[in-house]
Amino acid sequence: MIETKLQKFLTTLSHYNGFEKFYNLNQNQKYRNLSVDWSSTFTILNDVSDKGTSMLSHHRKARKIKLMLEELPTIEHLKYSFLEVYDGWKCPCCGLDDETFDHVWTCTAHLGTLIQIRNRSKNLLFDLIAEKIENIDDIKSLLETLDMWNILYDSNHFTFIDLIKGIIPSSFSTSLSHLKKSDKLEILQKFFDSLYDSVNKDIWYPRCAWMEEFETSLGLDLKEKLKYKNSVPYFSVHRKIRTDARVTTLEGIRRHIYFGEIIFDYYNNRIS
Ligand SMILES: [Zn+2]
Repeated sequence: MIETKLQKFLTTLSHYNGFEKFYNLNQNQKYRNLSVDWSSTFTILNDVSDKGTSMLSHHRKARKIKLMLEELPTIEHLKYSFLEVYDGWKCPCCGLDDETFDHVWTCTAHLGTLIQIRNRSKNLLFDLIAEKIENIDDIKSLLETLDMWNILYDSNHFTFIDLIKGIIPSSFSTSLSHLKKSDKLEILQKFFDSLYDSVNKDIWYPRCAWMEEFETSLGLDLKEKLKYKNSVPYFSVHRKIRTDARVTTLEGIRRHIYFGEIIFDYYNNRIS
């Protein structure tokens, strides 16, 4: 009996130790200064409706995690492995800027498409809420005021890029607090699934198809690229290097043990 409890405790501990490592990553600096609903974020990432046994769902989850970690193979990302091949290459869609993760979602070549996706997502969200409650006017106007619909990169506010990554701002979550918890999670799941599919289908996959065709025309396959693999580490000027507001004390766990608090609440609320 004690052993089972201990095992469970150790699993929880390593789980949250893993979370703190994730939380402390440079690219997550923004989320250490803004309030994120981590609990819902990971529930949706794990997909409540998915039994998660097929290879397909495994791949889908792995790709979602890469997106959340900003690890898409953009040109800037590929330079970490193959600088000699990609040095000087610009965004394949506009040809003007360096293709960083944030640029993919702010590129002028994608703006029209992304506005459509944003508007469709917002309408879907309102429709889903309307299926659950009768008068959605208040929720709707509350949601409309949130920064998260803005299509731009901002290191101090939530934007649409955070939603694309699957991050759920606490303000988004709170706007849905009148709904039953199960309804809220069902709505969030459908909203984020649809958004994920749209940005892949309309933006990322076409971009990758074009890149593949272009590289093939140059005779540039993986075997060829590997000949030029970086021998020294590459430091991109675009790298997000702010390390402030890190947590290394497993404070969430400590509070859980001493005060019985829900562990994620510590990370959700330490900002406010
Ligand atoms: Zn571009």
